[in-house]
Amino acid sequence: MNTRVRFAPSPTGPLHIGGVRTALFSYLYARKNKGVFLLRIEDTDQNRYVEGSEQYIQRALEWAGLTPDEGPSNGGNFGPYRQSERKEIYKNHIEKLIQNGTAYYAFDNADALNESRKKAEEKGDTFKYGAQNRMSFDNSLTVSKAELEQKMKEDHVVRLKVEPGQKISVYDEIRGNITLESSLLDDKILMKSDGMPTYHFANVVDDKLMEISCVIRGEEWLPSLPIHQLIYDAFGWEAPQFMHLPLILKPSGKGKLSKRDGDKEGFPVFPLSWDEKSLGFKESGFLSLGFINYLALLGWNSGTEQEIFSLDELQAEFDTSGIQKGGARFDFEKAKWLNHQHISNTSAEELYTYPVVKEQLSELDPKIHLELIDLLKKRLFTLNDLKKEIEWVISPVPYDEKVVNKLSPKNPAAVLEGVSSIIKNGSNLENLKEQLMGWAKEKEIGIGIMMQCLRLALVGKLSGPDLFDICKILGKTVTLKRIAYTISFFNQKT
Ligand code: GLU
Repeated sequence: MNTRVRFAPSPTGPLHIGGVRTALFSYLYARKNKGVFLLRIEDTDQNRYVEGSEQYIQRALEWAGLTPDEGPSNGGNFGPYRQSERKEIYKNHIEKLIQNGTAYYAFDNADALNESRKKAEEKGDTFKYGAQNRMSFDNSLTVSKAELEQKMKEDHVVRLKVEPGQKISVYDEIRGNITLESSLLDDKILMKSDGMPTYHFANVVDDKLMEISCVIRGEEWLPSLPIHQLIYDAFGWEAPQFMHLPLILKPSGKGKLSKRDGDKEGFPVFPLSWDEKSLGFKESGFLSLGFINYLALLGWNSGTEQEIFSLDELQAEFDTSGIQKGGARFDFEKAKWLNHQHISNTSAEELYTYPVVKEQLSELDPKIHLELIDLLKKRLFTLNDLKKEIEWVISPVPYDEKVVNKLSPKNPAAVLEGVSSIIKNGSNLENLKEQLMGWAKEKEIGIGIMMQCLRLALVGKLSGPDLFDICKILGKTVTLKRIAYTISFFNQKT
């Protein structure tokens, strides 16, 4: 059987990272098995439809590098790929179930159902429309043939006829066998009164017609699996394989990660920004590879020590036996660390193609842009960190007061006079390090102190990249100017 895997989001708003992880695992599974990864838009619930979300989903998948092989925008042999465009298909299929007696029409209006619900609750029961009470309701099992024709003109739904006393056995590739007593289920609605299928019905029909070989989705859909199995059985179809991915948990490990956690703790939960209030990973300075690499590790491990993967490596290494059962705790620091690794491994030329990088460098001479990126990329956790890292290029002042106080008793002006004359007399900055070291040794000046004085003069604080790279980027004239300024600064202080 060919491997065909689908990602089936509902366009009800932006994709949460859990959705992107489902897409990623589906994509990797398809690629690993030389199969097809398709996108299906599950838009049958008109009430939850949010304008713009389908486009958002497409853009997010594209940014993440998970472009579907088939889908609403690029087509395929199994379309349409939007459920709202498949109404005829569902209508034909629901009739098959009515005919074989596994589904029935139900005419009860909301008032009648509420009445029954109230009665059940008064007795302390949960209301369930099913085997134990379906014969007392208004449906095609209880009305006469003559009445039926008339009733069909009124609003009605179609329900699945769940036979009581059966053991429903389903198998999940990650969790193993799950058995459920059919009497626990109600007669689920398959077709709504607006003529639209419910999620359960459309999902099963489409997975079958689109020849999906393995359904990969989040754990929150596990309770739907027995219902889906019953629908497959009702058609006499063989069900595909199932894999339910572990939940993504809050950083504390307690409970499911939500948008509110991101807002509260200041990290993104969407791949791309959805509105001005919520930045996505992209706008927070993530490379798509950093983001994808992190998502891959949320609930999966390769069984080796390796943590940094390219998309090609993930495709080669991905194995469903590495998917864990338990929830995966979200850890933004780890996400940033992985992003940092990927930024460090990307060439300055490529990083320079990102508008956000160019923008941050815009105040500086374009001649030094690439050199600067090359010098600083290993210090970036997100692309947005660049601005802070280049502050010294513009100006080292105001100096960090703590450093000034620490160096003041060490005669910094004299140390810097010496440094300055060595730089002045040297023909270039290439072997400056050796020259300064030799000089400090001869004059019995601590190398640490000398370096700190020079760093304060050039950067204004004790952090930053390699000092001699800094001298090269600034050039001899600026380096000397900054040292002269620091000398007069200390002289005025005393
Ligand atoms: N439309 C469902 C969702 O929004 C898909 C669940 C499934 O993959 O079966 O997540």
